[in-house]
Amino acid sequence: MPNQFFIIVEKNDSGKLRQFKIGKFNNETNKILKKYDSNYVWGIHKGAIGSIWNKIRKNDKVYLTVQRENFKIIGIVSKKTSNPNFGELIYPTAIDKKQINHFLFFDKLEKCSISYHELKNNSISKLFGEEGIHEIKKEYYSEKVKKVKPVKIKKLKKLPSEKIIGQAERRRRNVEGFVRNPTKVKNLKALYDNKCQIVQCDFILEYNSKNEKKFYSEVHHYNPLKKRADDDYGNMLVLCPNHHAEFDFRVKFIHRDGITIINQNGKETGETIKFRDRHALDIKNIEKQLEE
Ligand SMILES: [Zn+2]
Repeated sequence: MPNQFFIIVEKNDSGKLRQFKIGKFNNETNKILKKYDSNYVWGIHKGAIGSIWNKIRKNDKVYLTVQRENFKIIGIVSKKTSNPNFGELIYPTAIDKKQINHFLFFDKLEKCSISYHELKNNSISKLFGEEGIHEIKKEYYSEKVKKVKPVKIKKLKKLPSEKIIGQAERRRRNVEGFVRNPTKVKNLKALYDNKCQIVQCDFILEYNSKNEKKFYSEVHHYNPLKKRADDDYGNMLVLCPNHHAEFDFRVKFIHRDGITIINQNGKETGETIKFRDRHALDIKNIEKQLEE
């Protein structure tokens, strides 16, 4: 389960936080955002990060608020990075811009209705009230999660007819020599509407009579089943045939950050991969592919 954190911003930085909420950034920041396939970035002073920084992971929930105020927003972490140069680019007018070198990226922000005091009372930190990152007690949100119904995977839209994809599917099964769990494959394809998880990539199968696109996708087991890897969502990706082949031939890999695509020389290809809802690749599977 993702963890939750509370970032308290000093009162004199509240303007910066409001700017962040509006999503108005300078050109340099927009370039960085584009590179990381995100829409928002929040920088943290190196003196304010503490050891909690290391605990933050992709998909963790972060509340951002101003000291003792009720101004709050929530973001789900899409990427975390430390970069000594970003502070000067993102906060060119800040006095301490050289000291701002830890960054959290978000795809979207949401309004938060939880009060400052509720978050404060459920924080682990003893230094509460001070600027910086604070960890929220697991008991607090795990209770809430239990009450929430699990995310329902979208109802299957009609799949392309067996005639069109049947042969390719059969061939692949022969190659792999394993029968994959057909329900999981179906569910995952439906979750992504048959679109490749690589950002801005899809494979058009046909245009229907209303000229709407229908897509074609394949499910790739990131660690091969023939190596006794899991036939489970944490090892499955929805890809177009090109990207499927590139992963099969071990030309491309997923970086440890879980987002960036790298080639077999470890260089970024400029592509990123996106995950929907609660689907995520198990970190052990990412590590395993990088180790071999
Ligand atoms: Zn693709």
